[in-house]
Amino acid sequence: MPELPEVETIRSRLAPLVEGRTLRALEILDAKWCAPLAPEALQDALVGRRVQRLGRRGKYLLWAASEEVFLLMHLRMTGTILYDAPPDARYTRVRLALDDGHVLSFCDPRRFGTGELVLGEPALDAFLDARLGVEPLSEDFTAEHLYAVTRRRRAPIKALLLDQRRIAGVGNIYANEALFRSQIHPLRPAGALNRRQVTALRDAVVDSLRAGLNAGGASIDDFRHPDGVKGAFQNEFLVHGRAGEACDVCGGLLVKFVAAGRGTYACEHCQKRPRVRRPARSVVRVDQ
Ligand SMILES: [Zn+2]
Repeated sequence: MPELPEVETIRSRLAPLVEGRTLRALEILDAKWCAPLAPEALQDALVGRRVQRLGRRGKYLLWAASEEVFLLMHLRMTGTILYDAPPDARYTRVRLALDDGHVLSFCDPRRFGTGELVLGEPALDAFLDARLGVEPLSEDFTAEHLYAVTRRRRAPIKALLLDQRRIAGVGNIYANEALFRSQIHPLRPAGALNRRQVTALRDAVVDSLRAGLNAGGASIDDFRHPDGVKGAFQNEFLVHGRAGEACDVCGGLLVKFVAAGRGTYACEHCQKRPRVRRPARSVVRVDQ
């Protein structure tokens, strides 16, 4: 699924092609994309407007059109946006035609991607504030901030990293990579991390996301750049998808297990598994 580096890669490549252009047509082939709004509602609000800015917040691609009309696209599992898609492009759900003759196609085999319309800056702020926490590549994402967010939380640290309302844009791949880089086991309770570990984790999240960005994102399955080219970060994974391979640091075997409901990869030599706390005495009661 596209995470922050993948969405940012799309944004940075599309922005120079769409900013300043006027939307000539919006063709919604699958009404589920914008439900519960009808396709006509989005067409009425957006067609004829100028794209002032293509932004990103968390995993949302944010189209800012004239007069504070906003389209928030979420790519979810398998969404990709192609610029002048080849004729054989499949699973197209939405087409956006620009006034210079170019066409953007939103292709999404699993159909989980969404398009949401938001009117006015105050409504946009409310929409984002309700869904997204700190932006991890902003200066607000400090070790101090992460320390505060983790206090008194018994959930595994991996679950906290994946919670978009706390840290926006980190998904399964970058959580796995960041936890390995900081030598923290994904199942360790968030509130049990000390300041040194939190600082290492903050730096590892930033380093993992930046490495992903520099490689143009990761293409495990459907993710493509707007020109159809794949990202390359999958070739640099330290642990993700590498169960059974050797750890680059210690040579031990990388393992896979489930944490926070997601396929999780780690080196349990480098990332020490927390001890399971058991009751002081276990009593087996036999009901009569
Ligand atoms: Zn290791």
